Amino acid sequence: MEILVATHNLHKKEEIQQILGENFEVKSLTDYDIHDEIIEDGDSFNANALIKGKYCFEKTGKPSLGDDSGLVVEALDGRPGIYSARYAGDHDFKKNIEKVLDEMKDETNRRAYFITVLCLVDASGEHYFEGRVYGNLTKEVFGEGGFGYDPIFMPDDHNTTFAEMPVSEKNKISHRSKALKTFLDYLSVNPL
Ligand code: IMP
Repeated sequence: MEILVATHNLHKKEEIQQILGENFEVKSLTDYDIHDEIIEDGDSFNANALIKGKYCFEKTGKPSLGDDSGLVVEALDGRPGIYSARYAGDHDFKKNIEKVLDEMKDETNRRAYFITVLCLVDASGEHYFEGRVYGNLTKEVFGEGGFGYDPIFMPDDHNTTFAEMPVSEKNKISHRSKALKTFLDYLSVNPL
């Protein structure tokens, strides 16, 4: 079964392929030679995931998966949230982390979670899947691995940040893998 994932990111494509297994052939926007900019101007993770999934389905007629992820910080009323990628600078991970740490410098409540929302759009309509991982924000950066806010996020029941873990360990508990597993459970009952 072929599924189109609304990304050019090879890493995302491969991660999804790995979780879905060999019964699925995961394709990316690059594989379909789609290079239009998809404007993600939704006001929620669900809205942005839908925009991407719907765009791809309308363009190709293939079952399509849109995704949107981010960091939600309790003491910041949910920020950076849907603005995670461009909170201080567009995909400038260092600046984005500095802004969050600065806004959190006098804050004792350090609760936060990462969230991924997937939206499958196919002939039967739209279906949403969500994964979250809860934890605390550190006061400074730890670790070199990962990306985004990984160096300041310590998941519950761990004493290292995501950036200090091997990718394989992060992938076992991450918001993305949880959302993908929910998606896989859905597919086992509702084949594409
Ligand atoms: P995207 O929707 O997967 O592109 O994620 C949007 C932004 O959320 C990224 O640019 C990162 O800043 C942040 N983010 C999402 N997932 C992660 C993660 O696993 N670790 C760290 N940051 C993440």
